[in-house]
Amino acid sequence: MTDDLDTLARTARLDVLVEGYARVPRVAGTVSVIRDAGRVVVVDPGMVADRELILQPLEDLGIAPGDVTDVVVSHHHLDHTVNIALFPQVPVHDVASVITGDHFERRAADGVQLTPSVRLLATPGHTPQDITTLVGTADDVVALTHLWWTAEGPADDPYTPDRDQLREQRERVLALATLVVPGHGPAFRPGPDTPR
Ligand SMILES: [Zn+2]
Ligand SMILES: [Zn+2]
Repeated sequence: MTDDLDTLARTARLDVLVEGYARVPRVAGTVSVIRDAGRVVVVDPGMVADRELILQPLEDLGIAPGDVTDVVVSHHHLDHTVNIALFPQVPVHDVASVITGDHFERRAADGVQLTPSVRLLATPGHTPQDITTLVGTADDVVALTHLWWTAEGPADDPYTPDRDQLREQRERVLALATLVVPGHGPAFRPGPDTPR
């Protein structure tokens, strides 16, 4: 059921606000916004050179911080979480919970349908607590994920505690997605050279 694409609508609009990079010490996480069924979901409001680099492209799309209805974090590294508080008190979703203000709800993310076209998948690999946000748009099934930092991988993520699990989850996502938005690079179309 979790990986059944027939039940994923194709109505979402996805915009990448910040294309991430990792050129240590300069690092930015990819930040995206999804609009679907009246919800405005920001994914990974993380590390950027200046917060305006998140807020300005949102404004250009006609989205004020107060319009955001949900925040999703792919995992708990600071480069993907440090700017969560740019947005007013909205549900923040991670692999195991949803927090809103001081309200804590325990819930497993795998298979959670945030909107008709937005689904969360538990995809451990980069960390044991990673999730992928699967988005159905008119043109693509998009995976917002840290299973890849960039189109090039790295093939063996130096952070992973379990390479077999990482590979397994990459295969799972590649069976679903036609476009990947990785944690620290431009979106790419998976192909034979995509690290598995
Ligand atoms: Zn990370
Ligand atoms: Zn990262």
